[in-house]
Amino acid sequence: MPVRRSSTALKEYRAKRNFAATPEPSGKNATRSPKRKDAFFCVQKHLASHLHYDFRLEHRGVLLSWAVPKGPSLNPRDKRLAMRVEDHPLDYGDFEGVIPEGYGAGIVMLWDKGTWKPLFDDIDAALKQGELKFELDGVKLQGSWVLVRTGGGRSESNGESRTWLLIKHRDEWAGPIDITKKAPLSVKCFCDFPDILAKDKPDVWESHLSAKGGEAGAMLRDIIEQAAKIKLAKAKRAALKTPSRRPRTTNKSTAPKKGVPRNVNGRRSSMA
Ligand code: MN
Repeated sequence: MPVRRSSTALKEYRAKRNFAATPEPSGKNATRSPKRKDAFFCVQKHLASHLHYDFRLEHRGVLLSWAVPKGPSLNPRDKRLAMRVEDHPLDYGDFEGVIPEGYGAGIVMLWDKGTWKPLFDDIDAALKQGELKFELDGVKLQGSWVLVRTGGGRSESNGESRTWLLIKHRDEWAGPIDITKKAPLSVKCFCDFPDILAKDKPDVWESHLSAKGGEAGAMLRDIIEQAAKIKLAKAKRAALKTPSRRPRTTNKSTAPKKGVPRNVNGRRSSMA
């Protein structure tokens, strides 16, 4: 039986957020489907003050979480820095959208999801020892991986370092592929950041723009511009009032590409 300990484990998660202002789940309704046998994992691409990838593994009713600045790599030579962050509620695993203000303000994309299996018996002991070997069965990430704690950096309340490395093991799924570049889109909407923002309220963003500098700020300005164009095109289509009509011209970029994991780089939803 899965143990529910979310009431205490999510204290830090809840303390950082104002649920009246953010669309993120509070975790109150985070119950696990009894039908699901394998533990869940996901990776959320998060454009906040910096672009990063949040890597999450389900364990004991919450999502253990690491922020990976460069994202996972299929190349075993790439040891990707992974900062342990606060546990997240289970229902966060499906979240995709815009956090308009406060902690983590930015855009969240569900970049990968699937199931994970530890390659040892005692997950808590492995976490304590700082070496977690596991298998992933996701849309983009597959095969054997390891998360290993290194010294240094900011510490947990128990004195353990928050600094880990995420490394792909050598197996049939390993290769010199930058999967974040090869498969940049969402596994939920099969779309990109501008499309996610266009579904939400880009106007909320205008007021925060001046505060955003650097690479993430430039990326965000570009995304807002693209989202505005998507919204304008949507408004024009609505004004034409041709609901059942779809554009006749076939665009090459809408065709699913060969050799890319299931649908990952599939159609950019022109209707989104
Ligand atoms: Mn994040």
